Amino acid sequence: MDRGVMIGLEIHLQVNTVKTKMFCRCSSDYRSALPNTNICPVCLGLPGSLPVPNKAVIRKAIMLAIALGSRVVDRIVFVRKHYFYPDLPKGYQISQHRGPGMAPIAVGGGLEIEGEGEPRIIRIRRLGIEEDPARITYPYGDPLKSPYSLIDYNRSGVPLIEVVTEPDIRSSREARVFLDKLLTLADHLGITNPDLEGAFRVDVNISLENQERVEVKNIGSIRDIEKAINYEIARQRGIVAGGGKIKRETRHWDPLRGATFVSRHKEYEEEYRYFPDPDLPPIAVSAEVVKEIEDGMPELPWHMAERYVREYSLSRYAARVLVSRRALAELFERTVKIYGDPDKVADLLINDFLGVVNSRGGNFQLVRATPESIAKLLSLMDKGVISIKIAKMILKRVVIGGEDPEEIVAREGLLVISSDKELEELAEKVIRENPKAVEDARRNPKAINYLVGQVMKLTRGRADPQKISEIIRRKIGLER
Ligand code: ADP
Ligand code: ZN
Ligand code: MG
Repeated sequence: MDRGVMIGLEIHLQVNTVKTKMFCRCSSDYRSALPNTNICPVCLGLPGSLPVPNKAVIRKAIMLAIALGSRVVDRIVFVRKHYFYPDLPKGYQISQHRGPGMAPIAVGGGLEIEGEGEPRIIRIRRLGIEEDPARITYPYGDPLKSPYSLIDYNRSGVPLIEVVTEPDIRSSREARVFLDKLLTLADHLGITNPDLEGAFRVDVNISLENQERVEVKNIGSIRDIEKAINYEIARQRGIVAGGGKIKRETRHWDPLRGATFVSRHKEYEEEYRYFPDPDLPPIAVSAEVVKEIEDGMPELPWHMAERYVREYSLSRYAARVLVSRRALAELFERTVKIYGDPDKVADLLINDFLGVVNSRGGNFQLVRATPESIAKLLSLMDKGVISIKIAKMILKRVVIGGEDPEEIVAREGLLVISSDKELEELAEKVIRENPKAVEDARRNPKAINYLVGQVMKLTRGRADPQKISEIIRRKIGLER
């Protein structure tokens, strides 16, 4: 943590859980559709077309505001934010702003993060809705190396919820903790599916004490946000140390080069020429509506984590990991209902299940495991009918392949070898065939692992290595 550093974030959460765009009825699915197929006069900004607000998105934004402790305004105003860029067909973006006659959905509130010391509140400045611009793609990935660019207007008009923090963040680490928590919240509230590419984008504002701030626009991953913050702090420090002053400017993060560069963008808010959109009359929000939305809200992740500690006696760490994704929390609770033993379920999910999911980019959409299949796997291990080794071996097929663990074990003969006689015969065979290794093991007990490994191989992992080790020790005279 660094007292001299001030960081404020503008987070754009994509509302990718609704079917249609923000101001028209085009499908909001721009990922799987062919380019420029989900478009209409409204999201292409053609003259004479009229936007109609998506009520579901407004309700979700109010829900997020309530969860953040923000004050919901009683009159929502959409504004036009002007700038000229090929991704913006109208020449303005429908957005929200604070100013005379203008009001975003909510102001104030905050999110508590566990800092390096005491927990700290990162205050929220405002929360509003805006539309996503179109998507520009570069045929060779790197803009500097591409002779032309392409525009896909399918994304034009996809709803975004913008959360703007006060400059309360002090380090790249705090930025990550804050964003993790906000994304978990958006996942639980059914606002954003973090598994989808482009689920969020962040503008990072960074300043040093008594210096102007620099805005780094449009960073799409938490890892890159951390890197961009560290890069900027070092760059700005270098300038100040050399007696220079920081210029107020907008930069962009180039992930390929690992550096920020000046971009020609608007530097000051006045240049956006905000004014209320005359096509969209203000929307009144009554206290009753806010109350009704509040009453229908799902359990918030931090309350869920507290309940896990209380109800299932989990550690705070385990509880926090399990609620980090709604799908994971659901899998946990439903498996406990079937199997019982929350500790064991938590342990398998956190250490083994998540390992498999993370090896696939942490994408929960790939998960095919059911509470039933996880419970069955745990029971097979309890009964001692499969070894830990086999359990780990088939885990991926259960988690990603959606296979039934009982079926795998039955079909492929993976049951543990419980007959001592069979294990003794295999051990004798290995001892016979590896006289050199037996000599080593007699001199250095650690070398016995090689022999154990050979027997395990012959059983195809279907035995308890501890037991094999005991048998071998006995047979080569290390123990009786
Ligand atoms: P507004 O449009 O309401 O004035 P701004 O555009 O000024 O808000 O602020 C945008 C972001 O810049 C916010 O996240 C805010 O926290 C951040 N910010 C403002 N001042 C500073 C500063 N001195 N250092 C770092 N970030 C700042
Ligand atoms: Zn449209
Ligand atoms: Mg701004």
